[in-house]
Amino acid sequence: MAQLESKKGMFVDTSVCTGCKACETACKEWNELPMNPDFGFTGNSYDNTGRLSGENWRHVKFVEDFSEDRSEQRWMFLSDSCKHCQLAGCMEVCPVNAIVRTEFDTVYIDHETCIGCGYCITGCPFGVIDIGKLTGTANKCTLCYDRLQVGQQPACAQTCPTDSIQFGDVDELMLKAKDREKFLRDNGDSKAQIYGDSDILGGLNVFYLLQDEPEKYGLPSNPQLPQKNMVGGYWSSILSFVAAGFISLLSFRSRRLSKDEQESSDISV
Ligand code: SF4
Ligand code: SF4
Ligand code: SF4
Repeated sequence: MAQLESKKGMFVDTSVCTGCKACETACKEWNELPMNPDFGFTGNSYDNTGRLSGENWRHVKFVEDFSEDRSEQRWMFLSDSCKHCQLAGCMEVCPVNAIVRTEFDTVYIDHETCIGCGYCITGCPFGVIDIGKLTGTANKCTLCYDRLQVGQQPACAQTCPTDSIQFGDVDELMLKAKDREKFLRDNGDSKAQIYGDSDILGGLNVFYLLQDEPEKYGLPSNPQLPQKNMVGGYWSSILSFVAAGFISLLSFRSRRLSKDEQESSDISV
């Protein structure tokens, strides 16, 4: 683990995002990411990126929100990426330690070490990581590690025309976000809420100010680390294994008994 210099991250304020996708374009351009080989018109939204992938490290979600009687409608936008979690499931499950924490407290995939096994895909509760179709290794946002190393801010944050993506020290950004949350609530946005304070996986270095419940944006309200889910999984596997063994033993025994009965009836004939 690198010596911590400072804890860097992003405050993504969805209330000022216009869905222009300049951040997506800047990410692709800076990181020289190819066009998604599966690209096509989704046909169900103006958003044709669809999801985060090995070729799309940032994805602006378009959420079309209707009132219950569908008489009112609004658009909500959220520029999504890796959250650089304090408790990062992807790091926990990588069998070759290819995912590391940098001096900026961000989560980084070392492509020289990654073997492309895909375990990290299952370890991330946000569906962020994907195996790059061209690289064969795991891919996700690096928080522009190369730019941070030379004192620049990430390409997406620099490009965003509305300051929906703000880069900086996480603790300072959180104070800003809390002020903004209060402002929105005081002005009638009663569901305005921060997603990614310490209650979510120990804190997300890339966190959000939402205008509705997390699920509306496709974010889990209570994401879990993989090993917490896996303990139950291990036990159910062990129990299934024991049950399968027991059933095989019973079936073997009953086959054996019927064979013995058959043989003794053959002898008596
Ligand atoms: S969002 Fe997913 S990929 Fe990013 S650090 Fe957290 S667990 Fe890892
Ligand atoms: S921080 Fe850099 S790598 Fe991450 S989404 Fe923004 S531009 Fe892409
Ligand atoms: S985050 Fe900024 S750049 Fe990205 S879609 Fe929203 S307004 Fe545009």
